[in-house]
Amino acid sequence: MAGGRIHVIGAGVAGLAAALRLAERGCNVTLHDSAGHAGGRCRSYFDVHLDRRIDNGNHLMLSGNWAIRDYLQTVGAADSLTGPEDASFPFRDLRTGETWTVTPDAGRVPWSILFGSGRVPGTRLSEYLRVRHLAAAGPDATVAECLAGPGALFEKFWEPLAVGVLNTSVDTASARLLWPVVKETFGRGRAACKPLMARAGLSESFVDPALTYLAGKGATVRFNNRLRALDLGDGQVRALDFAGATVVLEPGDQVVLAVPAWAAADLLPDLNGPEGSHAIVNAHFRLTGPVPPAPPMVGLVGGTAQWVFLRGDVASVTVSAADDLAAEANETIAQRLWSEVRAALGLADGPLPLWRIVKEKRATISQTPAQDRRRPQPRTVWRNLVLAGDWTATGLPATIEGSIRSGFRAADMVVTSVSSS
Ligand SMILES: Cc1cc2nc3c(=O)[nH]c(=O)nc-3n(C[C@H](O)[C@H](O)[C@H](O)COP(=O)(O)OP(=O)(O)OC[C@H]3O[C@@H](n4cnc5c(N)ncnc54)[C@H](O)[C@@H]3O)c2cc1C
Repeated sequence: MAGGRIHVIGAGVAGLAAALRLAERGCNVTLHDSAGHAGGRCRSYFDVHLDRRIDNGNHLMLSGNWAIRDYLQTVGAADSLTGPEDASFPFRDLRTGETWTVTPDAGRVPWSILFGSGRVPGTRLSEYLRVRHLAAAGPDATVAECLAGPGALFEKFWEPLAVGVLNTSVDTASARLLWPVVKETFGRGRAACKPLMARAGLSESFVDPALTYLAGKGATVRFNNRLRALDLGDGQVRALDFAGATVVLEPGDQVVLAVPAWAAADLLPDLNGPEGSHAIVNAHFRLTGPVPPAPPMVGLVGGTAQWVFLRGDVASVTVSAADDLAAEANETIAQRLWSEVRAALGLADGPLPLWRIVKEKRATISQTPAQDRRRPQPRTVWRNLVLAGDWTATGLPATIEGSIRSGFRAADMVVTSVSSS
């Protein structure tokens, strides 16, 4: 397919997904990013203090995420994710030391929950049946309105899952956004809800192989190239004003804008997209002594830490919807989270090991019903401009899966308009 040049602005996973799908179809692609690297909010880097390569934040995926599979397959990184052998989610209550594991059934019908053997300790069947409120949730319903109630299941499973997926407190998070995740993974049985993490690092899975793939397809990649403004007129984008130079668009050229919501709001002031975001705080601890025989990922309730991940000798903690925590001093956060990591991994008392706190203050948009309604469709009023990104109207939460689907969808729209012109 020839056509004009397609400029993809933003080399996060949404922009990378759009670029690789376009390059796969034979389009002339140029990918631009304001940073000196690709990956956006999903990347790895070498941390000199820890002397280890770490991710900007732990990213949990599920085996039912078909777009992630498709993307990794395309770039030759299909085997770069790892996870527990089983689709099992181990949990620990930091207050009581109680542990339990959520293990979905093999098939679509949750027989072990119906008959009791697979239920979380202390929970009753009626608590599981509340999931039907989630399936039928109206546009204004929150997660807590659908799933909270008497019993322990909400605190022991739904709340940690929902806060992790939606990065928004359960009292305000949109139920409509949680449901597709539950339906596409837990609703399809064990094979679709195996937890997955990047084996070596997010960049090794999502970024480096994608850039290699794009280079092989002849795509151009321009880093340190911030788009300052879009010259809009005559119903189209006429030129791209980059910090270094202006690119005048030729007939047939198109633009995929795959920047975060807050950057898109600056470039397209009339967009009226989602406003507001929430922080995610990650703490990375380099363990001293033998690494404990713990699962690669444990959910935690009753404290500040929500999930702890183990990769090699680095234990990493995630706290989502963490705006208050992000306001605290790094040292205070590290002390607090380290005591919880020790409890979770059964480590002996000892001094704080080497640590790094990473605060992503605008980790994702706020995923409330009101903000979900503001997420724009990819097609814009400008005929050569489509939008992509985790914040666009994907029907999914702001996640890697949603970002990749948005990038694929934007690319498909561009390809359709090239073929029909
Ligand atoms: C700490 C953390 C933990 C997370 N955990 C999970 C998880 O467990 N599971 C999960 O699925 N998702 C998780 N997410 C969400 C996931 O990372 C994002 O949904 C996804 O990376 C967003 O990709 P994107 O391409 O839409 O946006 P971005 O990654 O933000 O990419 C946008 C790109 O645009 C560039 N850009 C911005 N402005 C301009 C401009 N003017 N000109 C040119 N370029 C520009 C930026 O540099 C960036 O590279 C997490 C996010 C964070 C921050």
